[in-house]
Amino acid sequence: MKILVLNSGSSSQKACLYEVAADTPPTRPPAPLWEGRIEWTGDKASISVKTWQGSVRKENLKLSSRKDFVKHLLHTLDVGPVRTLASLSDIDVVGHRVVHGGPHFEEPVIVTPEVRSAIASVSTLAPLHIRAELEGMEIIDNLLGPVPQIAVFDTGFHRQMPLYAQTYPGPYDWFAKGIRRYGFHGINHEYCAARAAQLVGKELRSLKIVSCHLGNGCSVAAIEGGRSIDTTMGFTPLEGLAMGTRSGSVDPGILIYLMREGKLGHEQIDRVLNHESGLLGISGISSDMRDILAAMKQGDARAKLALDIFVHRLQSAIGEMAAALGGLDVLVFTAGVGENSAEVRAATCEKLEFLGLTLDPALNEGPILDCDIATKGSRARIFVIRAEEDWAIATECWKAHGHFFDRP
Ligand code: ADP
Repeated sequence: MKILVLNSGSSSQKACLYEVAADTPPTRPPAPLWEGRIEWTGDKASISVKTWQGSVRKENLKLSSRKDFVKHLLHTLDVGPVRTLASLSDIDVVGHRVVHGGPHFEEPVIVTPEVRSAIASVSTLAPLHIRAELEGMEIIDNLLGPVPQIAVFDTGFHRQMPLYAQTYPGPYDWFAKGIRRYGFHGINHEYCAARAAQLVGKELRSLKIVSCHLGNGCSVAAIEGGRSIDTTMGFTPLEGLAMGTRSGSVDPGILIYLMREGKLGHEQIDRVLNHESGLLGISGISSDMRDILAAMKQGDARAKLALDIFVHRLQSAIGEMAAALGGLDVLVFTAGVGENSAEVRAATCEKLEFLGLTLDPALNEGPILDCDIATKGSRARIFVIRAEEDWAIATECWKAHGHFFDRP
């Protein structure tokens, strides 16, 4: 069974093709047969594709629209040097990452005209992403005709959070108006919780897990019995931790002050909080943790402050999530920073021994993907788990395909 996954960002588009047995539940993530990525800067874009056999294709293109780029990317599947399929019609099912399901969606769903309208109805919550995701569905309609399409929601995993974790202590009617805590990175948090249970050799339902997704965007989730019970991102992916260019939580009074005294409008405030804050805003150097760590080693005081804030906020969030869980069995580090930065993991765990977390410094430095880096005597385990969002979406497609289309 061939599953194509589309993962659209505001300035990037990823796509992966997986092959899985139709009648056996997939367990470990296999290497994709084909992986493609488009990165946009202005009206130019670069496309890179690689296949599991090691063929690589890179192109810089100027095409008229985002749609044309995505079509071009998908046609590398059946035409040219990285051709992987005899025809696009060999694809059995297509999964889409949808960043926001609003109050409507929890579980993955088959894409129907009604589902598209419901997704479009929450587009004001994440306009760029949702536009790209709906466009992706349309492109698949055009290229593949009536292939089943499944939407998997990044907010879905958090829809079961208790009401008190979903509700802001603002006016009561905010909630009914959709102003509530949705949470994000749910696809990867859910995958990491299941993978951690597999690695620790226990039932997921018996575990209290704190999952730290630390990429360009960062969030922590508290997962009990396989369900998200709290998370740091909220109405938008701006709440919570300090991130690459996002501030995370700040006193809302600052916004009132900026509007009143600085006469900033909503667009300027959006730009400051989403694009000029976090690691970049504090260091003045970069949003990339590698640059921050390098500058810090050169003695740059603002880079050190940026890292200290990042770690301090992360430690606070882990403590908060452990408190929501009433304890902690497993801490997970995942995504770009979480998987690759031994320094950030070590700094974060430094103050967390009181939670029963003791990091083994040698294991932390080693090649550690999907491994335990806690000492033998540590009461709770610490895992570094490779983010596998696309594979998690493919797995949901496999399940949904069986459920909706009568697996033989
Ligand atoms: P996204 O949130 O866009 O999916 P990723 O999960 O790929 O991002 O994470 C990207 C971030 O990971 C980069 O901005 C960079 O800061 C960080 N990163 C990648 N490799 C390393 C490394 N070796 N050390 C520290 N940080 C790293």
